[in-house]
Amino acid sequence: MNSESEIIILGGGIIGLSLAVELKLRGADVTVLSRNFQEAATRVAAGMIAPQAERIPPSPMLDLCLRSRDLYPEWTRKLESITGRETGYWQCGILAPAYEANGLDTAPCTSNLPARWLDYQAIRELQPGLGADVVGGWWYPYDAQVDNRRCLAKTSIMAAQELGVNLLEGVEVTEILQEKAQITGLQTNQGIIRGSHYILATGAWSGQLLSLPVSPKKGQMLSVKVPDSYQELPLRQVLYGVDTYIVPRRDGLIIIGATSENVGFTPEITPAGIQQLLANAIRLLPMLKDFPIEEFWWGYRPATPDELPILGTSPLENLTLATGHYRNGILLAPITAKLIADLVLAQEADPLLAYFHWERF
Ligand SMILES: Cc1cc2nc3c(=O)[nH]c(=O)nc-3n(C[C@H](O)[C@H](O)[C@H](O)COP(=O)(O)OP(=O)(O)OC[C@H]3O[C@@H](n4cnc5c(N)ncnc54)[C@H](O)[C@@H]3O)c2cc1C
Repeated sequence: MNSESEIIILGGGIIGLSLAVELKLRGADVTVLSRNFQEAATRVAAGMIAPQAERIPPSPMLDLCLRSRDLYPEWTRKLESITGRETGYWQCGILAPAYEANGLDTAPCTSNLPARWLDYQAIRELQPGLGADVVGGWWYPYDAQVDNRRCLAKTSIMAAQELGVNLLEGVEVTEILQEKAQITGLQTNQGIIRGSHYILATGAWSGQLLSLPVSPKKGQMLSVKVPDSYQELPLRQVLYGVDTYIVPRRDGLIIIGATSENVGFTPEITPAGIQQLLANAIRLLPMLKDFPIEEFWWGYRPATPDELPILGTSPLENLTLATGHYRNGILLAPITAKLIADLVLAQEADPLLAYFHWERF
């Protein structure tokens, strides 16, 4: 398509924003329609870049995730140089402590990638203070994290604005107007908006606009803060446990996640959710029991039946799909932006896209 014609992105979470930046850098005219950035899963996530700790089996999904993890250093540097703001990318590695004697509960799904088993003593040398039930664990040195909640989200918005993306916050798409397999316009709360091409990136709400099997999987999270009495950070890598993960930020904030609930769009924090998070986290790292609590929050992962994203062309000729990133949307933002920009602007379909096409459902 002509790179000067207007592309309208529905949804201003990390997927919509990363696409907007990529398309704009390649010369396209881009508008982003965002109902409410505060509700985006992008603000909620733990920010783990964790294809190995997530134990994704060898598959096109693992290839997609690894390609995205490889893009992360350069992608975040680019956003930082556009804005002069941090993204909070930290190649801290991820430690996956195990409770089973053989470590199978956190064992790697492939032997081809760098990972190391640490026995009872070795894991405590790397991470003092682990719970007594931890028998050892796997060390994934190339997994990483980004501070999505306080840095990446804001930096992505600012990068889009700095580059001249037309970012319309508070605009809700209520209907996709169609004629003969084409979008003719978007009905919004501020009237009809038209472009020449459209990209659907509305996260967990995607199934409300189009007949796509994307549904919300709620996650509750909380954060604690390392007390001032500590001279140095007691945790310098992510702990990816069996039922919990603990993500330390560089300034002493520690994120604890996450529940995984099939309750639709049911907002709020629940006592059961928080109890589960705290019990699992304290079992893994008992010192947390004395750390002051900072904040609670929740959000909705965009889940699909096979837990894989929906990427590529759609039943409508002028609509491209970039949704359903489930629990890996922060990780997958750079590769999604690249592959979808290649597809939309140059009609180049990376072979990997075939595995994530909507027609598989
Ligand atoms: C508890 C939790 C922990 C997570 N941890 C991680 C992690 O550690 N690592 C990782 O990689 N991923 C993680 N994720 C997943 C990740 O957050 C998501 O996959 C990712 O944020 C999806 O991005 P998105 O842009 O598609 O959707 P979102 O970030 O949800 O953004 C969608 C946007 O679309 C807007 N929108 C929706 N409907 C409309 C409409 N009709 N009109 C206009 N705008 C609309 C919404 O307002 C929202 O701003 C986690 C998610 C949760 C909930």
